[in-house]
Amino acid sequence: MNPPESQKHLLSKSTFIRGLQCPKSLWLYKHHYKLRDKISLRQESIFVQGTNIGLLARQLFDGGIDASPPDNFNYLQSVNDTYKYINEEQEVIYEAAFQYNQVLAAIDLLVKSANKWYAFEVKSTTSVKKEHLIDAALQYYIITNSGIELSDFFIIHLNRKYKRNGDLNIHSLFTEKSVLSEILNLQTFIKETIRQLLNSSISELMPSIGIGSQCYQPYPCDFIGTCWKQVPENSIFDLGGRGAFSIATELYKKGIKNFENLPEGLELDADQYKQIESYLSNKPIIEKEEISTFLNSATYPLHFLHIEEFSTAIPEFDDTCPYQHLPFQYSILVLQETGEIQTFNFISELGKDPRIQFYSSLKLNIHKIGSIVVYDANIMQVFKLLIAHIPEFANQLNEFTNRVVDVSIPIKNKSYNNASLKGVYEKSKVIASFAPQYKYENCKKNFGLDAGQIFINIPNQEDDKLKDQIKTKLIEYCNNEAEGIFIIWNGLKDLIIN
Ligand code: SF4
Repeated sequence: MNPPESQKHLLSKSTFIRGLQCPKSLWLYKHHYKLRDKISLRQESIFVQGTNIGLLARQLFDGGIDASPPDNFNYLQSVNDTYKYINEEQEVIYEAAFQYNQVLAAIDLLVKSANKWYAFEVKSTTSVKKEHLIDAALQYYIITNSGIELSDFFIIHLNRKYKRNGDLNIHSLFTEKSVLSEILNLQTFIKETIRQLLNSSISELMPSIGIGSQCYQPYPCDFIGTCWKQVPENSIFDLGGRGAFSIATELYKKGIKNFENLPEGLELDADQYKQIESYLSNKPIIEKEEISTFLNSATYPLHFLHIEEFSTAIPEFDDTCPYQHLPFQYSILVLQETGEIQTFNFISELGKDPRIQFYSSLKLNIHKIGSIVVYDANIMQVFKLLIAHIPEFANQLNEFTNRVVDVSIPIKNKSYNNASLKGVYEKSKVIASFAPQYKYENCKKNFGLDAGQIFINIPNQEDDKLKDQIKTKLIEYCNNEAEGIFIIWNGLKDLIIN
């Protein structure tokens, strides 16, 4: 067998997916590559995680030969190597690459068994998603049209039910699903889409496509910085609540860019009308009675608690599943009725299962009475997972759960709303609306990553001093978050007094 094409590809799997999401994105990528938004550290770390999972899955078919290209500019070599390995009767090829009709597609694992070929694509998710089927259908189209008959096509993904117990069991960690029948039904669609995308990508004219849900779905587009430049700072996209994004997109298409120009008779819910009214009158919404009832439901001492979790695709510790969230850090600010304040914090040791340490420390620093005030109650889920791991602490954790008061509730139900919140209840915006001078250190904004991602990356640092510095920064950040909850609480209190 010889490779059918010798010129460089015009489309790859990733540019095909890009074009399918938005032909304008593909066109910009081909004609104005440098306009792309900078890739975030978060996206980079997701990408690295995906690559690592792909490498781990190779252990399902040991002893294969790798056809990966030496770099991103030498895919033709990868295609030539793949054909060479097929001719040499290799039975397991990693990253086998094929090119047909100027479209390139590589497959994670190509396996020959009993003289039949099988394709396996690895995903770092815990289920098969709709967009995976499109990827697979394109790969199937390219591989089979390149002369390889595939007897089946599987998507390998992480098994969410796998619970680690001792050494990692690769065969239980991964699970595979045949998607052959689904992708066979997509072959005509793939053929037609390739034709359209090849035409539009080489055209001199940029496709005329306005901003919309495709900018974020299924993947955030990296030309948002270019296409969304025209959207004013205070715009119709600040509308919050159900269906807000599609309402805003439709209005924007009609040239309505902000709340001042809204048409009569628009179908919005009561909260959305409240938000618009507050914006147009430049007056915050303050429903004193509701806020007062909410604040009075809490009892002293008040524990303003912020926690942080991390999760890894590959379970690191016994009794954990893929992507299981593990709490590793907290800060509490305890306010007595007398006004006395104390702050406590905890951060887990590196490389150790944090759950028991976390619980033991928390138990020490939460008083026997008093509310546990949080912002957005994911703490309930944390307590539930801790109970599943350490059932003997269930009584205490259930008791903590009953004492939780979520201070985001009055913001979510619009008992308090301010134009600067832009229809959402983002903690940093709420803090800024109450205390504009407060220097709130948002972890993601400052470091580009969530605290959990920073924490799990600490062991990769070689310098011990740097490791300690990062841990100190994380503690400061977490203290800041707990203080932020305290500021919101006080801000709400001030609203009912004034
Ligand atoms: S930002 Fe939106 S409109 Fe612009 S290229 Fe991306 S998906 Fe298309």
